[in-house]
Amino acid sequence: MGKTIDPAILSIAFSNRDLCTRCGTCVGICPVEAISVGPDEFPVLDSDKCIECELCRRACPGGEVSFQQQTRICFGSGQDNSSFDGRVVETYVGYAADQRIREMGSGGGVASALAWDLLRHGDVAGCLVARMKPDEPWRGEGFVARTYEDLLSSQGSKYTVVPHNAVLGQIRNMTGRFAYVGLPCQIHGLRLMMELEPVFKEKIAVIIGLFCGGALEVDFIPDILSRKKIAKEEIKGFQFRGGSWPGKMRAVKRDDSMVDLHLSDYKEGAYNYFAHLYNPIRCMTCIDGSAHFADIAIGDVWTRDSRGDYVYRAHSRILARTERGKEAVRRAITRKSLCAEDVTKNPHYQTHRAHTRRKSISAPLRIQRLSRAGVAVPKYDRKLERAPVFQDFLAERMATLVYRLGRIKTLRLLAMSFLVSRWSLPLIWLRVWRKKIKYRG
Ligand SMILES: Cc1cc2nc3c(=O)[nH]c(=O)nc-3n(C[C@H](O)[C@H](O)[C@H](O)COP(=O)(O)OP(=O)(O)OC[C@H]3O[C@@H](n4cnc5c(N)ncnc54)[C@H](O)[C@@H]3O)c2cc1C
Ligand code: SF4
Ligand code: SF4
Ligand code: SF4
Repeated sequence: MGKTIDPAILSIAFSNRDLCTRCGTCVGICPVEAISVGPDEFPVLDSDKCIECELCRRACPGGEVSFQQQTRICFGSGQDNSSFDGRVVETYVGYAADQRIREMGSGGGVASALAWDLLRHGDVAGCLVARMKPDEPWRGEGFVARTYEDLLSSQGSKYTVVPHNAVLGQIRNMTGRFAYVGLPCQIHGLRLMMELEPVFKEKIAVIIGLFCGGALEVDFIPDILSRKKIAKEEIKGFQFRGGSWPGKMRAVKRDDSMVDLHLSDYKEGAYNYFAHLYNPIRCMTCIDGSAHFADIAIGDVWTRDSRGDYVYRAHSRILARTERGKEAVRRAITRKSLCAEDVTKNPHYQTHRAHTRRKSISAPLRIQRLSRAGVAVPKYDRKLERAPVFQDFLAERMATLVYRLGRIKTLRLLAMSFLVSRWSLPLIWLRVWRKKIKYRG
């Protein structure tokens, strides 16, 4: 039995796990390595090592995110811009000039092209990125990429929960500066770390954020593998968006064979139905979908033409938010690492409507509702982007219902069995057709 520590002085996971994003910030900031990552990606405390400094509590973005404070830390001054996209200096649509980086990316490989541009020109000593663990490929982890091959191995979205910021502890004693790629909640934690511990401010050269609609619970990969009768020990890799754009969910087996885990691609397929079944509750109450406090934010470009077809295949959307971010994007274009078109003045490059509704309207409505019912919810100092209408209330209730059904393991597995089978194909065809006609002129 270790010594007793008051949970009130620790990061939120030690008093309420539902509020923990599993960003790993408390692991990364603890000066005495008293916190580590547990098997379910939640932090675990070794109370005998704890010196009760409260740094983990102060850097934790789980229970509260002050958009005003983050605005001040990130932009130096001014008020939070309450629109979904937040503050933007320049917008681009583009792709990696390096063909391998483009092919390995989730979108246009832009996050990695920017990181590679900084690395190969010696602007940074390494890049803090995420990968599936080599020894447990059903789990994600942060790591320091130092080479081109390292960056290739980190590419692609890891839609499972990744305690990414745990890796930050490693850079305390490393020389040089680092580029950082991460999700909005991870960046909230990182920004607080940089404020609390000057060493991190010195070491982080640029923050590249990813748009985020929500992560998937840690049992997602074991569950989907089990539906295909694959033991997790049989795999050496897992790709959420492997192969040609927009990618397919695939297991890479130890004998190097690839197994497609469902019958359609990432965007049009079963993935969309899995999402709420497997979202952690903290993602359902998260309101930052566009990495508001990154220097550069990157998302998919799902723009369609009047026939309902995608305009940009294997491209990413790039929002430069700070002067530092703008310079990094412009340099990467000049140095021929990035091919990008400036669309700052083109209103067609607004964020996807469904994504905006999920984060800017549904999540705040859910927070209000849960709070009225006495459930602990994260605190935000932000207003609703617009007044909600009937469809917004309906969408919020439907998503919550699917989330609740997902908590019943038998139901979740039944739904998963259906979604990965050929019986789900009519549902997927219907979805594809509905989407297409929606955009037809
Ligand atoms: C959980 C999650 C949800 C997302 N939701 C949306 C969405 O709703 N709408 C949208 O437009 N875009 C979303 N994205 C972003 C999108 O999937 C692409 O990651 C993004 O467009 C960058 O693609 P790319 O080809 O430019 O980057 P790539 O070259 O593929 O590089 C991706 C970079 O992101 C890092 N990374 C991947 N997963 C994680 C992770 N879990 N934690 C930390 N770093 C990670 C990789 O290490 C790599 O450095 C999401 C990403 C994730 C991980
Ligand atoms: S810092 Fe992140 S991982 Fe740690 S308790 Fe807070 S939200 Fe959870
Ligand atoms: S030593 Fe400080 S940062 Fe580490 S667990 Fe204890 S209170 Fe948290
Ligand atoms: S939805 Fe929010 S809390 Fe969940 S992974 Fe994305 S940024 Fe983090």
